[in-house]
Amino acid sequence: MQYIVFDMEWNQPMPGSYASKKALPLQIHGEIIQIGAVRMLEDGTVGDEFQVLVSPKYYKKLNSRVSKLTGLRDARLREEGVPFLKALELFRAWCGEDCIFLTWGFDDITVLVDNILLYDEEPDWVNQWYNAQMIFNAQTDSGSAQKALSTALEMLEIEPSRPAHDALGDAYHTALICSRLDLQKGIENYGKSLEKHENGFNSEPPAGCISRAVFRGFDDKSAAIEAMAGRENHCPQCGKVMQHSRWLSQHGRRYMAMAKCKEHGRYLVRIRLSADTDGTLRVSRLVYEGASDAAARYDAQMAKPRRRRKSSSKPQ
Ligand SMILES: [Zn+2]
Repeated sequence: MQYIVFDMEWNQPMPGSYASKKALPLQIHGEIIQIGAVRMLEDGTVGDEFQVLVSPKYYKKLNSRVSKLTGLRDARLREEGVPFLKALELFRAWCGEDCIFLTWGFDDITVLVDNILLYDEEPDWVNQWYNAQMIFNAQTDSGSAQKALSTALEMLEIEPSRPAHDALGDAYHTALICSRLDLQKGIENYGKSLEKHENGFNSEPPAGCISRAVFRGFDDKSAAIEAMAGRENHCPQCGKVMQHSRWLSQHGRRYMAMAKCKEHGRYLVRIRLSADTDGTLRVSRLVYEGASDAAARYDAQMAKPRRRRKSSSKPQ
């Protein structure tokens, strides 16, 4: 058994572009353009490295956000990239048999499986994988919130020596973090860490809160807010889309608004925006009963003269 730490970069179509409207055989979170990996040696140190560029087949033009983040250009992928199946073959050959895969976050594994399925291949060889963040959180006593790789490096006082948002660079840094962890123990206790993580929530729900959910992959704040006010704004009782009042801005990229179901009355919706490691925005959405203290605070806030609202709000 060996540990392989891997990381990937993937492309997403520009919103509204021709490519974004393309019907793919399977819906994917992104098309892989780079795979980087590092092998952990038996003694827990960092071993040999692997990297391959992939020429995209479905989203051929790099999203400018992806290009900016990764430093990759269309021309380079065309010249140096290999087709995905070839890249996968090289990656598997380098990995060898009996691998336990580690990634930073949950996204890389999702995207890898997506892409494998897109090409009608079997992803059964990547079935043993762990999010190293969960092990890091459990063993560093640093809470169960998701952390950027750079934050974890800082916490362990590891000086980054490779480029960020480069698949091999990120895999290498993740491997350095893993070399400081007890992976075997982390894996034994992984179920517990995962439970604690609870899809981004690390505590009991606040008083009056009846539903919590996480949404990912928004390009910017307005896209996130639009979804929260529209297609994701469902009544917690009947699931129908609710009507929606004005968002009140709170500190720390938090917003709240009152939503109303024709049948079940009003609910307070509170959202918090945060950046995911791939540069997109994640939204945590909490729904409170209309009769809760949180909803009463919203009403009080609304009753105040407008200019004072923003500075006087308090979370929870
Ligand atoms: Zn309803």
